[in-house]
Amino acid sequence: MSAWTIQSVREAIAAKNVSARELAAEFYKRIQERNPLLNAFLTLCPDRASTQAQRIDGLVAAKKPLPPLAGVPVAVKDVISTRGIRTTCGSKILENHIPAYDATAVERLEAAGAVILGKTNCDEFAMGSSNENSAYGPVRNPVDTGRVPGGSSGGSAAAVAAGLAVAALGTDTGGSIRQPGALCGIPAMMGSYGRVSRFGLIAFASSLDRIGPFATSVRDVAAVLNIIAGRDPRDSTSVTTPVPDYLSEISKPVKGLRLGIPKEYFGSGMDKGVRPKITAGIEIFRKLGCQLLDVHMPHTDYAIATYYIIATAEASSNLARYDGVRYGVRVNGDSLLSMYRKTRGAGFGAEVKRRIMLGTYVLSAGYYDAYYLKGQKVRSLIAQDFRDAFQKVDALLTPTSPVPAFRLGERVDDPLQMYLADIYTVTGSLAGVPGISVPCGKASGKLPVGLQIFGPPFGEARVLQLAHAFEQAGGANL
Ligand code: GLN
Repeated sequence: MSAWTIQSVREAIAAKNVSARELAAEFYKRIQERNPLLNAFLTLCPDRASTQAQRIDGLVAAKKPLPPLAGVPVAVKDVISTRGIRTTCGSKILENHIPAYDATAVERLEAAGAVILGKTNCDEFAMGSSNENSAYGPVRNPVDTGRVPGGSSGGSAAAVAAGLAVAALGTDTGGSIRQPGALCGIPAMMGSYGRVSRFGLIAFASSLDRIGPFATSVRDVAAVLNIIAGRDPRDSTSVTTPVPDYLSEISKPVKGLRLGIPKEYFGSGMDKGVRPKITAGIEIFRKLGCQLLDVHMPHTDYAIATYYIIATAEASSNLARYDGVRYGVRVNGDSLLSMYRKTRGAGFGAEVKRRIMLGTYVLSAGYYDAYYLKGQKVRSLIAQDFRDAFQKVDALLTPTSPVPAFRLGERVDDPLQMYLADIYTVTGSLAGVPGISVPCGKASGKLPVGLQIFGPPFGEARVLQLAHAFEQAGGANL
């Protein structure tokens, strides 16, 4: 199976070695072959893909300039709205939901020439770390189909890793781009909070949710971020900070950069197959001429508890809108209240219900101060840890996930164990900083390991530059 990249697609289309329509057909064929097992795609949109591919082929025929993602087959996580295309959030409650508009990120991808193939499976409302919380069945990891792809953007990660899309959009609230990227062995990036518009992203926890790219190289991640980043008047939290050209930034030399190693991320929870790879990965940066410094991030231990208070609180509020009246599934009852109850009882899965209950509890009168308010204060302390660290260093290096891909079913009965999958990723989510996971060898020679690079707010270019240098130095093959 040929491995297409954004650049090779664009060149092949410009040289008329392949048409955008032929390429889309090739990817649909791959999907037909592999998706029955992988379950990475929930909905395909061949009509929309064909309209877009024809537009690109028309540009080629007319010898018009090609946009940066001309003809690139992409996949979109099913929590991101697509006009006229079913968007389920991996939930029964939105089984037949067809959005009336596109998310800004989707609109920008299409304007840049990308061909949207379909919508990818995910944990229900993006709540999970293994993709086993989807109402439509788990996704399998293409590296080992007995294992999870990570979550919650497991379908996007698996689709790209299996060659069923050249790039994909995912969302990250506490690790859902970076962790599946790590477990499937591909680069995956979360920009700073505010860097990419959330307009059209169906909310889980609004102060944490971010949209970002998966691809098979850091260069392609940068190419997608170039397109989706930037101010959007329809998302008031998106910022006006200028977007540099990430593609030209990535090849800048990394020599002399100061990289912090926070020792709080190297404790006893790390798998023994992961640790040596991360250590070897850090050594690559030393060889590239970076300066490695120990840094202290004292509030790291509180990150999981803080995240699961704030994220559930926001989720309980955001998910109140699914009442059987305006969206999706409705189960009738004898009264309005019983209709609400029956609809929500039948429409939501166990993890979503657990989070709504937890979130309602931490926001309730009498417990608000003890949990939600305290959580917000600790969140500030965690953000302060990052600010302090970035006084001394240009970026931070950590593992992405404490463990490589685990077996399907292995953790489903233990939510706490599942929550610990996010131990290294939630900190950056709470602090709003950008982070990437980049392939860093394979545990026991088989299962991919991800190295996480955090940068200061709006330091995406720095993060990409380091990830690119690492990749070029052979980081994936350690
Ligand atoms: N795994 C984390 C959770 O379950 C993160 C999910 C995400 O980033 N969307 O909340």
